[in-house]
Amino acid sequence: MPEAPQNISSAVVVGSSLAEKNKKALQFIEDVTTNADQVQRRVLAEILSRSSHVEYLQRHGLNGRTDSETFKKLLPVVTYEDLQPDINRIANGDTSPIFCVQPISEFLTSSGTSGGERKLMPTIDEELERRSLLYSLLMPVMDQFVPGLEHGKGMYFLFIKSEAKTPCGLVARPVLTSYYKSSHFKDRRPYDPYTNYTSPNETILCPDSYQSMYSQLLCGLCQHKEVLRVGAVFASGFIRAIRFLEKHWTLLCNDIRTGTLNPQITDPSVRNAVSKILKPDPKLADFIEAECSRGTWQGIITRLWPNTKYIDVIVTGTMSQYIPTLDYYSNDLPLVCTMYASSECYFGLNLRPLCKPSEVSYTLIPTMAYFEFLPVHKNNGVSNSISLPTSLNDKEQQELVDLVDVKLGQEYELIVTTYAGLYRYRVGDVLRVAGFKNQAPQFTFVCRKNVVLSIDSDKTDEVELQNATKNAVNHLVPFDASLAEYTSYADTTTIPGHYILYWELRLGGSTPVPPSVFEDCCLTVEESLNSVYRQGRVSDKSIGPLEIKIVEAGTFDKLMDYALSMGASINQYKTPRCVKFVPIVELLNSRVLSTYVSPKCPKWVPGHKQWSTQN
Ligand code: AMP
Repeated sequence: MPEAPQNISSAVVVGSSLAEKNKKALQFIEDVTTNADQVQRRVLAEILSRSSHVEYLQRHGLNGRTDSETFKKLLPVVTYEDLQPDINRIANGDTSPIFCVQPISEFLTSSGTSGGERKLMPTIDEELERRSLLYSLLMPVMDQFVPGLEHGKGMYFLFIKSEAKTPCGLVARPVLTSYYKSSHFKDRRPYDPYTNYTSPNETILCPDSYQSMYSQLLCGLCQHKEVLRVGAVFASGFIRAIRFLEKHWTLLCNDIRTGTLNPQITDPSVRNAVSKILKPDPKLADFIEAECSRGTWQGIITRLWPNTKYIDVIVTGTMSQYIPTLDYYSNDLPLVCTMYASSECYFGLNLRPLCKPSEVSYTLIPTMAYFEFLPVHKNNGVSNSISLPTSLNDKEQQELVDLVDVKLGQEYELIVTTYAGLYRYRVGDVLRVAGFKNQAPQFTFVCRKNVVLSIDSDKTDEVELQNATKNAVNHLVPFDASLAEYTSYADTTTIPGHYILYWELRLGGSTPVPPSVFEDCCLTVEESLNSVYRQGRVSDKSIGPLEIKIVEAGTFDKLMDYALSMGASINQYKTPRCVKFVPIVELLNSRVLSTYVSPKCPKWVPGHKQWSTQN
């Protein structure tokens, strides 16, 4: 039975060369994909046997059985909402083994939300090992296509986000914050040539996003010749860094010229770490100044970091909207999507990292979790609007297939059973089978179910948008105005991107609606959106102020005419609650009467709203 090669995920393999380590990692991928079926059975048996007495499995009558047939017969396929009462028990201090025999070490806060708040994924210490293992496979894969990366540095913009405590004192934070703060990340870095980043740990771990970004860019500029690859987790984050440079390059140049750090950077550990890198370098300052004041930012990445071979960012899923901007800034450097992961579980990696973004597929690594797949039926090409997650009936549950049984070209919803105690959990992602690596399928990421709008890690669904809109239009009632139709658009031409709502009004009264009322509408929509959106607006500044554009009467009829002319069926036509297709956005924009922007940030506090009153 293939096992993770020893030391893949640990710090250094004493006495073994990098080439040997890379070979071992590739062999591991080869082994687990060749024996995917066996590995999956072993993973399920391992999960079920070690947690055989936990409350959740007892409740469903598993009685210590570890075979997949009994498991599939007895365990329901669930969503977060099904698990929430148990998750709340853990958050409130119940330490009995509910889902998993190992103690819950912390909660990972997902960017997926439930009831407007981030979902809470209980995790265990051991999961960090599994995440590290997946990370340790990325560079050996990359090395096959771009050798020599160990001889230079990576300029990665990595950030932590604020954390909160649940009422019982367990930490709740995003998975990457948890990872960057772990010894797996911090202690391994000095020894691993592939994690030789331009950003010192202190700059990544600085909680102030301005100081963190400033110091990471400064260190990246100082070491510009050594940089062989650049990146961030998501495309939106990388573009924000370039935008930051556009705004602050004079300050950065000044620091490089004089060798003294801007006094706005007050965090002592950041100052200390940067002081080891920053030296007076008037020649470099002149070079950066000349490039940044050239009047165009096209190709700025290759101009400032001339040895860069690729940009490492996720541009699959909603992030594909950023590809043109990245191409512009980089003069078409390869965009590399290395992995597919979530708070629930890290899933897999891209074995052909230099392929085009549209061709990216992820190979799920069979040791990470037990995977099942629910076929997605397209309903004759018409997807339901406003669909609420519903439980699966028996027939649907029987349609689930194992990892090695998926069919090429078919779309599936991903279902996971994890070591941390999620059993047959619907992640919410839709994947399409694009090919196979040995026995293991490779998936293109199709979409996140129901998400209509996304700028950064925010995921807004139709129901949230509808409720937020409903709340906002209450402001119009005193003016005898109401909303006839609406749609939305994620505008990423601004940096940061922002949501636009197109509203067609029905006006009854004689008093015009004052601009301040529409601004109140903008803010009410923002206040009504989920906490990940509001955090993006308030804390991360990764989302710009929401805009409402009022369009002429009859605009939505024109939209329908357009859809019909493109072959939509008149019986089935429904106003799309989000638009992406350029001609439709242009049609809407050509009929805008007035535009309003949210006058301030909505409210947001770390953690769940109810915790701040309980703590
Ligand atoms: P979170 O739980 O907040 O970490 O978000 C995880 C979700 O982000 C996944 O379920 C996907 O919807 C999305 N995601 C993660 N990695 C990728 C990727 N490589 N391509 C597209 N979407 C991704």
